[in-house]
Amino acid sequence: MTIESIKQLVCPNIQKLKPYICARYKYNEGILLDANENPYGKYNRYPDPYSKEIKRELSDFLGLKYQNIFIGNGSDEAIDLLIRAFCEPFKDEIIILEPTYGMYEVVAKINNISCNYVNLGSDFQIDLPKTLKAINKNTKIMFLCSPNNPTGNCLSDKDILSICDSFKGIVVVDEAYIEFAEKKSLKNKMQLYSNLIILRTLSKSWGAAGIRLGYALADEFIIQTLNKIKAPYNINKLSQKYAVKILKNFSKIQKQIQIIVNERKRLSKRLSKMGIKVFPSQANFLLFKIPQASEIKSRLAKKGIIVRNRSDLPSLENCLRISIGKRNENNQFLKCLKQCLNKTAFIDRDGVILFEPQDDYQIDSIEKYRILPGVFSGLKKLIQNGYKLVLISNQDGLGTSSFKVKDFQIVQNKMLLDLKKEGIEFDKIFICPHFLEDKCNCRKPKIGLIEEYRQQEFINYEESIMIGDRKSDLEFAKNIGIRAYKAKTNSDSLEQIINKLIP
Ligand code: PMP
Repeated sequence: MTIESIKQLVCPNIQKLKPYICARYKYNEGILLDANENPYGKYNRYPDPYSKEIKRELSDFLGLKYQNIFIGNGSDEAIDLLIRAFCEPFKDEIIILEPTYGMYEVVAKINNISCNYVNLGSDFQIDLPKTLKAINKNTKIMFLCSPNNPTGNCLSDKDILSICDSFKGIVVVDEAYIEFAEKKSLKNKMQLYSNLIILRTLSKSWGAAGIRLGYALADEFIIQTLNKIKAPYNINKLSQKYAVKILKNFSKIQKQIQIIVNERKRLSKRLSKMGIKVFPSQANFLLFKIPQASEIKSRLAKKGIIVRNRSDLPSLENCLRISIGKRNENNQFLKCLKQCLNKTAFIDRDGVILFEPQDDYQIDSIEKYRILPGVFSGLKKLIQNGYKLVLISNQDGLGTSSFKVKDFQIVQNKMLLDLKKEGIEFDKIFICPHFLEDKCNCRKPKIGLIEEYRQQEFINYEESIMIGDRKSDLEFAKNIGIRAYKAKTNSDSLEQIINKLIP
């Protein structure tokens, strides 16, 4: 796009606007009697309206011209000003690729600008055809967040630039987390695409969220437009001073970034090992999916660990986001998360809890019923040590004429009653009634029986166990990613295994 056509995109009222010229615009030395300041006090003078010293530092750091930098009260200010500069209320709209950072939508709504939402595609990448199709004559700005908050991934440069090429509007690439990513900033593409605006901040990698300092990088005309409409003294003196100080020492920041990135990798591995789905991240946070996310979030909060629930966003059902903290904070989080998850003991029935007759393998009458030695004490010990018990059993041909449900039930009910008398109850009972040749999806070693349970319960896979006497039990454990213990059929090995597990 040419600068001339970008000029046409600016709202008419802003095009016509004669900006307020503040006192410190030109003079900040001499006998200053021009701004109704108080001559006394440490911070009696207004700050530099254009944060020139910060711009100088940033210009060196970024290798960009001073004229291409806008300094804002956080990059949130730049988001607000961009929308107000380019979008006319009740007429124009912006495109937002969801799920993403919430402020684009909020600022648009505050300003009566409508939002056109397009979902990100697979792996949270841009669905280019769908995104380009969403553009209409009123679309003025498209917000692309890379690395994206809260998904953590970088968007494809090729897709972003292709949008810059085809879209005759403003493309804002929010690089708030770019310093944590392997991918490079798109700042050097601004010479090629004058509609490309990059947002950056000192709130993330620079560790200075408290001073509220963000910046936008863009063509000089766009920077002038933002300066024209910003509040006169948008960056206070203390923040300017601190920003200049930290910007001189990127090597220190670089070391911190490396520590955070390493911690992110470690945390991601540890969560995956716990059986939790973690999304790949290029930022200083991780998004992960966990059953009953809001319940887990509350349980963590009760333990003093505060994480963000992002389940309200499209495609992010049951997703929590955790910022990478210091190593000991991350360890505390892992420890508490583990405590919030259920340690589950999956137990096979026949040959492990009940004596299994080796002639027909069916316990289909009360005469055949016998609880094996050590079952009560073993299971009690599991419960006392925080395990949830899940019974999982294959019962060949249950419900056929040779193995009636009623006969099975008499035995099963007696077993449950005897266990209950000892204070032992199963959280859940799963019985597959099929034969091997039925090729069902639920017979162990397959895991179809517990699929729903797994989606609903927050199982601690790292510490959950399976105790069974057959190869199919061991394979079942492998298929869901938990440790398996092989019991000897019709022995007291359930108790022995548990005693070894919990000395
Ligand atoms: N963009 C993104 C993607 C963010 O996640 C945030 C902060 N959460 C911001 C912008 C705002 O940053 P700042 O502190 O610079 O206003």
